[in-house]
Amino acid sequence: MSTNNDNLLAQGRIAVLGYGSQGRAHALNLRDSGLDVVVGLRPNGPTWHKAKAEGFTVVEPGEAVKGADLVAVLTPDMVQPTLYTESIEPNIKPGAALLFAHGFNVHFGQITPRKDIDVILVAPKGPGALVRTEYERGRGVPSIWAVYQDVSGQAEAKAHAYADGIGGGRALLIKTDFKEETETDLFGEQAVLCGGASELVKAGFETLVEAGYQPEIAYYEVMHELKLIVDLFYEGGLTKMLQFISETAQYGDYVSGPRVIDAGVKARMKDVLTDIQNGTFAKNWTEEYKAGLPNYKKLKQADLDHPIEKVGAALRARMPWLQTGNAQPAAAPL
Ligand code: NAD
Ligand code: MG
Ligand code: MG
Ligand code: MG
Ligand code: MG
Repeated sequence: MSTNNDNLLAQGRIAVLGYGSQGRAHALNLRDSGLDVVVGLRPNGPTWHKAKAEGFTVVEPGEAVKGADLVAVLTPDMVQPTLYTESIEPNIKPGAALLFAHGFNVHFGQITPRKDIDVILVAPKGPGALVRTEYERGRGVPSIWAVYQDVSGQAEAKAHAYADGIGGGRALLIKTDFKEETETDLFGEQAVLCGGASELVKAGFETLVEAGYQPEIAYYEVMHELKLIVDLFYEGGLTKMLQFISETAQYGDYVSGPRVIDAGVKARMKDVLTDIQNGTFAKNWTEEYKAGLPNYKKLKQADLDHPIEKVGAALRARMPWLQTGNAQPAAAPL
């Protein structure tokens, strides 16, 4: 593996808190870049043994933070405020850097970082598994970076050094800030990727089934085949999709797409964005989480009980290649 002793972080120690999708990939890549990594986890938590088996020194989060020059917070977002208060704030060295991969807690005031530390963000634009495999191929995943607080005068250099260590610097680094990263991430997942796409699919399925078409046929048309389109978007945008679909599909796209996704949709997207920007969404979500997720559980169950899931499960059971696919629940949280 290539060592990178010119890296600004080569003289110090990096604590990676969390060993899930991002944490594992970052820890392995940083180590292969010649950097000194210790992993911080709850003793005997789900990933404790995995990190140990992969050769890391694994200690409790507070122990990992002590003596670290950079602390990467790569646990689920909702546990970070408590983790910060209990394990990071009392232990992080003055002048050390606190690094996030998502700005939610800092931007929305759930974590108020100590004034004597650097606070930075590095977020690869891909799931952890890809961050690892691209690094192993000698490449990297484009990453965005930001500085929230710079006490050392080196916060930007530290973000770049970390991005280099995980391989992002080999691809592309894009400067952002905590506000932009947080608000665009939430908007994307709510309006388009998760919320938008799943409602579009359910509405299409219901429309066909209510018109008397078979649910199996509807499932293939509005959910299963979405992957073909998304793969074309991913690889080559609208241009590639338009190259691969029929003229009939293109004409239908041009004349019917805007009837479904009309100006009213965009106006409501702006409302969703406003709620994100003014903190309404963050406040509601934080309160919901603290209350034990009553609405979240109800709404989730409704999706799991939707008729498309019943027919989908039966059809997917007859498509064995899907069971060995790339999608892993922990590998792609948005
Ligand atoms: P994950 O759910 O895959 O991993 C969580 C890890 O944290 C596990 O090792 C778990 O054991 C550990 N953990 C949980 N609670 C803990 C606690 N109280 N103390 C210590 N460790 C604890 O998380 P992830 O998807 O890698 O997300 C980590 C961060 O990266 C988040 O801020 C997320 O928004 C951000 N992010 C994720 C992706 C992605 O593709 N998954 C992409 C960009 C940014
Ligand atoms: Mg078709
Ligand atoms: Mg269109
Ligand atoms: Mg997100
Ligand atoms: Mg995201």
